[in-house]
Amino acid sequence: MTTDNGFLSDLRALGREHAATLGATALELDRDPSRATALLSGELPWRQLIGMPAEYNPDPLRVRGRPVYMDRCVEQVVVMEELARVDAAAVLALPGPSMSGFVIADIADQPQRDRYYQLLADRPTWTFFGMTEPAHGSDPAGMRTALSPDGAGGGLLLNGTKRFVGNGARAGIGVVFARRHAGPLGVVAVLLQSGTAGFTGVPLDTLGLRGLQLSELRMRDVPVAEEDLLGRHRSATRGGMWSAVRTFNRYRPVVASFALGVAQGAHDYAAEHRRRLSAGERHQLSDLADRLEGTRAMVLAAAHAADRDPGDGTLASAAKIRATRLAEESTLLALRLFGPGARWEHPLLDKWARDARAFEFMEGTSNVQRLTLTQGYLRGRLTDGRPAA
Ligand SMILES: Cc1cc2nc3c(=O)[nH]c(=O)nc-3n(C[C@H](O)[C@H](O)[C@H](O)COP(=O)(O)OP(=O)(O)OC[C@H]3O[C@@H](n4cnc5c(N)ncnc54)[C@H](O)[C@@H]3O)c2cc1C
Repeated sequence: MTTDNGFLSDLRALGREHAATLGATALELDRDPSRATALLSGELPWRQLIGMPAEYNPDPLRVRGRPVYMDRCVEQVVVMEELARVDAAAVLALPGPSMSGFVIADIADQPQRDRYYQLLADRPTWTFFGMTEPAHGSDPAGMRTALSPDGAGGGLLLNGTKRFVGNGARAGIGVVFARRHAGPLGVVAVLLQSGTAGFTGVPLDTLGLRGLQLSELRMRDVPVAEEDLLGRHRSATRGGMWSAVRTFNRYRPVVASFALGVAQGAHDYAAEHRRRLSAGERHQLSDLADRLEGTRAMVLAAAHAADRDPGDGTLASAAKIRATRLAEESTLLALRLFGPGARWEHPLLDKWARDARAFEFMEGTSNVQRLTLTQGYLRGRLTDGRPAA
């Protein structure tokens, strides 16, 4: 534990060093999300941060001489929090495996892994994770996107629309969830390349996390082969939905770390730039600093828990509720401290306040997280998340 803590502190320090490079592009990316490629020519060593597995990653990040592949949730939360103190949207706008990578790691066979990761290793490639739909949101019970037999050709056809999909319009490959049969086990995960006939990705105009370029994915008679079905070699109970739930559980602490980073960034900005504070304002900032510290411990505990058992999202939900609320409170407090006109005079604060709101919806709203938290509590799953000694 001590060794891991020292390692994580060094990793955090490295993340903080790299975060400084994001300040130059934050507002530009917010104005024009298509400028994400500009990030790639900057100083950020983005290839080392995106979580490429060892066999496709010859030059990983190194801490104390030890390679770090950024594939553990605890590694991701400490680095992402630091980067998000400056610009969470920039990190989310990077090419790489992101959410779909969890599905590939869980249920792809070797040829599918090679197809996916080789593309990402060969050139900067964004990926998508298509779950949410315009009419039914992210509730899989109502999923309309369908995978059905192609009467003529003997193959399969994918039809449907996914909405609010991060990086969707600029992605080269990703995972789409679709219903193949009725019932909870009838949802399958499909590996899909963007150039496939009948597939289009259209960017949506958004207010928060604009760099992430939320998109709509439209699929009209997209041909799907058996080799595109993820988890086809596994039982239905260890297939698409199983892997989607594990992805949410593992990614939720990361979303919480983004929110925490934004909350910390707003606190630090106010503490640095608002020099003359009243006693009441000083108290508000110091109370916020305490809550940031507490939430950091919670996010780390949730990350440890997710690494230990990705099937359990209890602590992840608790951390996300806490961190997203704090991001909103912190950014709004910072704006209030600068008085009327703050959003115009401090454009970074304005951007962070808009970004903070997006975390509430990303990965499920707080009400939905409360349901997961309650179910976990009733099943006796609420532990402190630390790995067993
Ligand atoms: C920045 C961002 C990135 C995203 N990235 C992706 C992505 O890459 N891929 C993807 O597929 N989707 C993505 N999404 C979509 C996101 O996952 C969903 O919008 C989110 O999960 C909310 O789901 P929903 O739309 O079904 O809303 P719902 O869960 O239906 O919520 C709608 C409202 O009803 C309330 N509510 C719902 N159920 C209950 C209940 N039981 N009790 C009380 N209140 C309830 C909620 O709190 C909310 O106010 C992203 C969204 C954002 C904002």
